[in-house]
Amino acid sequence: MQRDTLIFDLIQKEKKRQEDGIELIASENFASPQVIEAMGTVLTNKYAEGLPGKRYYGGCEVVDEIETLAIERAKELFGATWANVQPHSGAQANAAVMLAVLNAGDAILGFDLSHGGHLTHGSPVNFSGKLYRANFYGVEKETGVINYDVVEATAKKEKPKLMICGASAYSRDWDYERLRAIADQVGALLLADVSHPAGLIARGLLNDPLDYCHIVTTTTHKTLRGPRGGMIMMREDFENPFGLKTPKGDLRMMTSLLDGGVFPGTQGGPLEHVIAAKAIAFQEALSDDYMSYVLQVQKNAKIMSQAFVDKGYKVISDGTDNHMMLIDLRPKNLSGKQAENGLIKADITINKNMVPFDDKSPFVTSGMRLGTAAMTTRGLKENDMLKIAELVDDALMNHENESKLSAIKKEVNSWMSNFPLYK
Ligand SMILES: *Cc1c(COP(=O)(O)O)cnc(C)c1O
Repeated sequence: MQRDTLIFDLIQKEKKRQEDGIELIASENFASPQVIEAMGTVLTNKYAEGLPGKRYYGGCEVVDEIETLAIERAKELFGATWANVQPHSGAQANAAVMLAVLNAGDAILGFDLSHGGHLTHGSPVNFSGKLYRANFYGVEKETGVINYDVVEATAKKEKPKLMICGASAYSRDWDYERLRAIADQVGALLLADVSHPAGLIARGLLNDPLDYCHIVTTTTHKTLRGPRGGMIMMREDFENPFGLKTPKGDLRMMTSLLDGGVFPGTQGGPLEHVIAAKAIAFQEALSDDYMSYVLQVQKNAKIMSQAFVDKGYKVISDGTDNHMMLIDLRPKNLSGKQAENGLIKADITINKNMVPFDDKSPFVTSGMRLGTAAMTTRGLKENDMLKIAELVDDALMNHENESKLSAIKKEVNSWMSNFPLYK
């Protein structure tokens, strides 16, 4: 077969883009060479519908060992007693959970997308908002922080069958204990989607959702630094709180309902090459090196958010507990779109983001979201965060000045050449 140089040249081009620039997209990271290596293997050839030991195809002995290792390592990393590592992505993990525990038309209660929630938590353009009756809670205008009394009042009014916590753009920790108390009062299941801060949670730097939430979903590629993918976990509460039944009518354990929500509910064959990469990433995340990494991620985020505050930026909730921050650009007379477009010309990648109570559309937005997971993987420390804030501010204040932006880009490229990424 002729080598597809067109595609491989583009892959090299993308590698160079990643190496040359400053990556501040909060959901991105740089997976290790062995995580990437595992994804490009013959495991992609194998069909393995079902679970280890219970497959619908022959020849699964080897992938069974790999998937079992992934499950065991996931359980060790998060202190879970059960895990399904097959979801192809975070959205797929949430779809599987909802299919498993809800019926069409049931009420759910999630964190408002425009306040930092995720599409899969009930947005009208997503399956979760089309199939279920979605209600939302948000942050307070004054503080940018969730008021749990309001969550409780909303839950009592809407009587959701599933409450969802976790976010894509919320920089504060969550009170899972309080949320569980609210869920218990209204007879709801509590799902925590920790896609973003999963790595910090795994290593004990944030509250542990598995202490209180019935079900926890996550991606594996954000702070967790594994391959693009998702997973579902539980620690306790294996009872089936609603007497949920299978299509045949028999009562099922929560774990088998959730397994069924993944396959055959929402997916076909699992991606065993990606599951192998997940197993590697979980092992890496159990290491001392990764512990130092997440500590540095959190330290870097605190320093960076303070640097922006010091430069007169409005950081929502005035700081961060995790790896990210959300900045309202209105006091600087900039939109998120202008910021994103200006910064990319300086090889600094961020994403525009709605801020709570935004008056602009999702295509324009008033804010930008920044995270430290990727640049910390590159080896950047506290002082480097101050320099990044300088560069970002300089580019934003000159977002229409092409020559200034190209000078900043040169500086960014030469600085980044000191932090080799993939040799
Ligand atoms: C990123 C994210 C997801 C979706 O993950 P994908 O892998 O992109 O499908 C779901 N929930 C939250 C809170 C996220 O941040």
